[in-house]
Amino acid sequence: MTTQTEPARPAPVPDEVSAPYFEGARDGKLMLMRCLACGAWRFPARDRCDRCWSTETEWAQASGEGTLFSFVLMHQVYHPAFAREVPYNVAVVELAEGIRLTTNIVDCPNEAIHIGMPVQAVFEPVSDTVALPKFRPARG
Ligand SMILES: [Zn+2]
Repeated sequence: MTTQTEPARPAPVPDEVSAPYFEGARDGKLMLMRCLACGAWRFPARDRCDRCWSTETEWAQASGEGTLFSFVLMHQVYHPAFAREVPYNVAVVELAEGIRLTTNIVDCPNEAIHIGMPVQAVFEPVSDTVALPKFRPARG
């Protein structure tokens, strides 16, 4: 008799640029770059502001509040680690700060997911050092 082990889920490997984002998520904070010259938020992290071209930046905590901009339900198994999860959702959330990020909706059956629903960030550990921002329905 053999024992089958679940394949490991792929996890992001933070680099020098993205480390503050993942360290924030690990600590339960949604951290994003913000331009020091014009105040525009940046995601993903990058050297230069899209709006004013400044390279001056800081990391700041975002509200974690947003609305569901779009989503799909995945029925295909693209990675064996997710075989038990299908169908699972892949969502684009528009944050109150105007940033859109790709994520998953959690604590909500797929049938109840709808575009425009208010959502709130939660943080799901995927390894000892990395957590990912996910979003659950906002509780009024
Ligand atoms: Zn700027």
